[in-house]
Amino acid sequence: MVVFSEDHIQETRRRGRIEVICGSMFSGKTEELIRRLKRAQFARLRVEIYKPAIDTRYSEADVVSHDSHAISSTPVDSSASILLFTSEVDVVGIDEAQFFDDGLVDVCNQLADSGVRVIVAGLDMDFRGRPFGPMPALCAIADEVSKVHAICVKCGELAAFSHRKVKNDRQVLLGETEEYEPLCRQCYRKAIWAEEENGRSDGYK
Ligand SMILES: [Zn+2]
Repeated sequence: MVVFSEDHIQETRRRGRIEVICGSMFSGKTEELIRRLKRAQFARLRVEIYKPAIDTRYSEADVVSHDSHAISSTPVDSSASILLFTSEVDVVGIDEAQFFDDGLVDVCNQLADSGVRVIVAGLDMDFRGRPFGPMPALCAIADEVSKVHAICVKCGELAAFSHRKVKNDRQVLLGETEEYEPLCRQCYRKAIWAEEENGRSDGYK
């Protein structure tokens, strides 16, 4: 008797759905996205991957995670371009979804309604701890949401916050370990209070 896991059933059954992978920086969102997309490729499904053109930290054409397991992708400058580029696919992956416009919600619904499995990864909160771009709406319409966590660099607990270590008020500041650190709620609060005492007030209140 062959027993298929839930994962396997999802990969072979061609039925539209929306999966969201959300979390802080360094939480392994992109790694989890790539893991699911690679499994879909192994199952001989046709896979397309998109990311916002804004994210040029690594290679222009690849979704690259921090451990360099790359998978080829198309940079697009708006969510509408995803529909223009997508035809004859089974699975669409979208990375760094927080940087897309709000139209991404409709785009994901349209793809899923037409039978495509859509897997979206993105930051759920900005550095102020506020819901980021279209992510809260995407979580609401998703069939399944996975919240992944980093490890707090101060205390070792699970971390959900991306703390910006450098002073900069812009919501979008692409960066790595020089600019950001993952913190748990308690350590994040402490860091923000300390910054306010030192005259930095760009953290959340
Ligand atoms: Zn902590």
